[in-house]
Amino acid sequence: MRKIYADNAATTALSPMVLKEMMPYLTTVYGNPSSLYKIGSDAREAVDKAREKVASLIGAKNSNEIYFTSGGSESDNWAIKGLCRALKKRGKNHIITSKFEHHAVLHTCKALEREGFEVTYVDVYENGIVKPEDIKNAIKDNTALVTIMYANNEIGTIQPIKEIGEICRENKIIFHTDAVQAIGNVPINVEEQNIDMLSMSAHKFHGPKGCGALYIRKGVRPDIFIDGGAQERGRRAGTENVAGIVGLAKALDLAVSTMEERTKKLTKMRDRLIDGLLKIERSRINGDRLHRLPGNVNMCFEGIEGESLLLRLDLNGISASSGSACTSGSLDPSHVLLSIGLPHEIAHGSMRLSFSDDTTEEDIDYILEKVPEIVTYLRNMSPLWEKIKKEERNN
Ligand SMILES: *Cc1c(COP(=O)(O)O)cnc(C)c1O
Repeated sequence: MRKIYADNAATTALSPMVLKEMMPYLTTVYGNPSSLYKIGSDAREAVDKAREKVASLIGAKNSNEIYFTSGGSESDNWAIKGLCRALKKRGKNHIITSKFEHHAVLHTCKALEREGFEVTYVDVYENGIVKPEDIKNAIKDNTALVTIMYANNEIGTIQPIKEIGEICRENKIIFHTDAVQAIGNVPINVEEQNIDMLSMSAHKFHGPKGCGALYIRKGVRPDIFIDGGAQERGRRAGTENVAGIVGLAKALDLAVSTMEERTKKLTKMRDRLIDGLLKIERSRINGDRLHRLPGNVNMCFEGIEGESLLLRLDLNGISASSGSACTSGSLDPSHVLLSIGLPHEIAHGSMRLSFSDDTTEEDIDYILEKVPEIVTYLRNMSPLWEKIKKEERNN
């Protein structure tokens, strides 16, 4: 049976080239980067080089604007809690975000609400795209931070980051973006796009799990998030994850240098797949068709449960998702699909496929063969589908 991994938005396979780069730091060069002898300073050098590489790949002015963390969730928590707690001392206690952020941002904002912050959650509309106008209108005298994700993890829609950055700049408000899904897939330049803080996570671009980074523009001062040693210029304590950091930099380098070609290839496959699947009756594509990540397809099929669809896909060798991996297991439909206006019963019948460079045209052919078969099979035993068809006949 064919095996197709189509859940690259949840995590990606570690690239063999990345593993090769990491290996010395998992074996022979095990020194602590803070130690002064040779295997310590060799590890330190590797971390420094990785920091420079990451800075140059996102257009940062200086490598000391890059802070390594344990991943996307930590970077989001630090950026948002750290900055807001710092600015609260100056009377700023209002945050602007959107309704369809990742839970690492939404739950962080909820936690700050419990600390007395006020949060405005702007709409994302049917196309899954924030209107910069809405951000502008939400700004108040006490706004500390705007945090808007670069690309959504479920429906892949890409946000007008540069415009939002400009609005924040004009109003002297700090702008953070969770770029975990976008980085390596779309061109990013923190200077040109007026981004003050940016979160990334290595395992979303073929790097290792448990390693991320936060870009913090010079002059932006979020509170220290982990107290302890002097690592990361005294702002994020803990012995560096040297192999992870080396892997993150290598993976990002590979992702950025192959981006153009991969984007062309994946966009073509994505559009062929969407066209094919839309031939299924009562199906729909979620989020804007064009302003989305090249490898993201998110669709709904009325009358079926997303979970049943995923199980049948798995039996046929296809790994897919019904939305965010963090929420599967719960029965509530995705907050992202609800935020773009889908009714509960339709949001339940959703499927996300997310591709990588490893995906082939043959994989797309196979998915185009299997999904319609499975949807028909499930609908044939669905009382909900029977009801939909009955209503159709009565109209
Ligand atoms: C995966 C993801 C995260 C969390 O990153 P981890 O490294 O798994 O903590 C945050 N935001 C978005 C948009 C993501 O896709």
